[in-house]
Amino acid sequence: MFDDLQELYQQVILDHCRKPRNFHELPQPTCTAQGRNPLCGDQLKLFLLTDGDIIRDASFVGSGCCISKASASLLTDAIKGKTKAEVKLLFDQVHDMVMTGRGADGVGKLAVFAGVHKYPARVKCAILPWHAVIAAVEGRGDPVTTEKEDA
Ligand code: ZN
Repeated sequence: MFDDLQELYQQVILDHCRKPRNFHELPQPTCTAQGRNPLCGDQLKLFLLTDGDIIRDASFVGSGCCISKASASLLTDAIKGKTKAEVKLLFDQVHDMVMTGRGADGVGKLAVFAGVHKYPARVKCAILPWHAVIAAVEGRGDPVTTEKEDA
């Protein structure tokens, strides 16, 4: 990866970290889920407004490191208007990408996290909001934690 692309990616992550999008509670969510990454101290709560299979709105609150906040910010933007099945597909793509650094072509803006695979301790931060969104669309109420997962 070129250095200037890497720098651009870092700037996007910093921007979303400092000014997270969709950073509020939803007044009447249809699904919520909580995520926790004890290794880093990231905590977030995710809110979804679904209409049948479609995700109409998404938001989150919480605290954590830059990577987890930026990931939740970009995730909540990325999933609006998508079906639950599309979100699961996107989870698989993003998960692969942050683990291996490959597959950044098919994920739009989320490609900014492709470099995270070089920092294994940060992979869980980037993927935490994704575990939460999957728990939310599957209707699992239990808080998710990265502790039990491989990432
Ligand atoms: Zn973190």
